Amino acid sequence: MITATDSAGPSGAGAPGAGEASTVVRRPALSPSRAGDFKQCPLLYRFRVVDKLPEQPTPVQVRGTLVHSVLERLYSLPAAERVPERAKALLVPAWEELAAEQPDLARVFREDELKPETAWLESAGKLIDTYFKLEDPRRLEPEACELRVEVEIGNGVLLRGFVDRLDVAPNGDLRVVDYKTGAAPRQIGEMRALFQMKFYAVALWRLRGVVPRQLKLIYLRDGEALAYAPDEGELVRFERTLEAIWRAILRAGETGDFRPSKSKLCDWCDHKAHCPAFGGSPPEYPGWPDPDLGAETALDRAD
Ligand code: SF4
Repeated sequence: MITATDSAGPSGAGAPGAGEASTVVRRPALSPSRAGDFKQCPLLYRFRVVDKLPEQPTPVQVRGTLVHSVLERLYSLPAAERVPERAKALLVPAWEELAAEQPDLARVFREDELKPETAWLESAGKLIDTYFKLEDPRRLEPEACELRVEVEIGNGVLLRGFVDRLDVAPNGDLRVVDYKTGAAPRQIGEMRALFQMKFYAVALWRLRGVVPRQLKLIYLRDGEALAYAPDEGELVRFERTLEAIWRAILRAGETGDFRPSKSKLCDWCDHKAHCPAFGGSPPEYPGWPDPDLGAETALDRAD
C-alpha cells in the first residue's frame, strides 16, 4: 500500500485530501458509484466519467444532498441539541448554502411548477422526522461524518470515496453508516447499496487494519434500517472483484470499447439519446486517461 488517508468534513468530490496541495494532479481512482456504473453498463460509465456528459439532477437527488448535509450538521451540535426541531431548523440554511455553492442544484426547481420549493423542503423535513424514528442522535458520538477515504489496494488500484458516518465503539469496533434517500426501487437499489458498503468496508479495513463490525443502511423513505456484518474472507474476495473491475475499466479505456448493457435501470439513464441500444450514437471517443477519473459527486453520495 502506498497511499492511505481518511479525513472528515464537508469537502467537494474534487477536493484534495489531507496533505495534498491543490495543484497536485490526482491519480485515477475507483469510487463505489463509478464502479457500480461500470458493472451496470460500461457505456454509462464512459458517458459519465470519460465524456462527462451533463446530467440534469432531479429534485429527489437534490433533496438527498440536502438531507445528508443536515444530518452532518446535526452531529456537529452538542448531543443534547440533536432533536427533530433543531434538525429541521437546519434545512433552510443548509439549502441556502448548497444553492449558493452549487447553483446547478438550485436550477432544478425553475422548470418544476408541480413541486415548488416549499413543498420540497417539507418533504425533506419528513425524511428528517423518519430519521429520528430510527436513531436517537443524542446517544451517538460518531467519529466522523462525510469521511473521505482513499487507499491503495492490490495491483495499484486506488479506492476513493466518502462515508456518510463512521461510529467507533469504545472497544474499537467500527460501524459504517449510509443514509439512503433516493426514489429507486428498493430491490434495485439494495444490491448497489451493498456493493457500496462493501467498498467502504474494504477501504476502512485496509486503512485501519480492522474489519468493520457492521455496515448499516438507513432508508429514510421507507423508515427501515438494514445491518450487515462482513467477514475478512468476504472482503478479500470483494477486493479481488474491485481489482477485476478496475482492470476491465482500463482495458475498455485503452480501446474505447465501452458496451451498452440494457436493463431496467435504463429508465433512470440521462443518456439514451447517445446510446446505441436506444438508436442513438455516442460522441467520438475523447481518449484516456483523465486525472479526475472516477470522482464522485455530492449527488452520488446522496442517492
Ligand atoms: S440507456 Fe441503458 S444501455 Fe444505454 S447507456 Fe444508459 S444505462 Fe447503458
